[in-house]
Amino acid sequence: VRLRFAPSPTGYLHVGGARTALFNWLLARRHGGVFVLRIEDTDVERSSADMVEGILEGLRWLGLDWNEGPTVGGPHAPYFQSERLDTYRAAAATLVASGHAYYCYCTPEEIKAKREAAEKASGGWLYDRTCAALTAEDIAAREQSGRPRAVRFRVPAGVTRVDDLVHGPIEFDGANIEDFVILRSDGHPTYHLSVVSDDVEMKITHVVRGDDHISNTPKQVLLYRALGSE
Ligand code: GLU
Repeated sequence: VRLRFAPSPTGYLHVGGARTALFNWLLARRHGGVFVLRIEDTDVERSSADMVEGILEGLRWLGLDWNEGPTVGGPHAPYFQSERLDTYRAAAATLVASGHAYYCYCTPEEIKAKREAAEKASGGWLYDRTCAALTAEDIAAREQSGRPRAVRFRVPAGVTRVDDLVHGPIEFDGANIEDFVILRSDGHPTYHLSVVSDDVEMKITHVVRGDDHISNTPKQVLLYRALGSE
């Protein structure tokens, strides 16, 4: 088994993170598996080398040693997401080519205006898929005018089931999941893309993390499938 602890170095190691690391470490050790430490530092502005050092020190102090990751390396290096941007861009391109994702040329202002109007009228708003149905000519015209583009995942209709080993099966209806952005127009991945792309590449077998990630899981399961992974 291969487990990972994947902190974002935007703060010190806190008790909740230490607890997640401990459960991953215990499960890896119990099965003679591998415990991977991966630093999720794609948010350059909020991440810092001091925080990374603080997290490594905290884990060492707790006796939670890692088999792959910063300072020790490993077969899936680098273990800093900021050094893996090309992989995420390649994954996004693969998903566009296979039709699982599409370029979105909507500007933040357009999206904000639609969201605000919908919120005034009825409450919620999910991206209205304006760019999901663009023709090849539409796309060519936008490309020619140099409009910035993000990449959005095309969420399939129907129910996504997550077999959570702690909570049991959880079902999510695709109708309630927005076609979420996986690559921003500045070429930076969003959390969903980087985490799934790395979990696939690093051959992670079990994802053990806080309940605060339950609502992220269906999106990530859909991304796994779209990338052809279990
Ligand atoms: N980097 C994420 C966080 O610190 C964790 C990602 C994950 O475990 O999937 O919340």
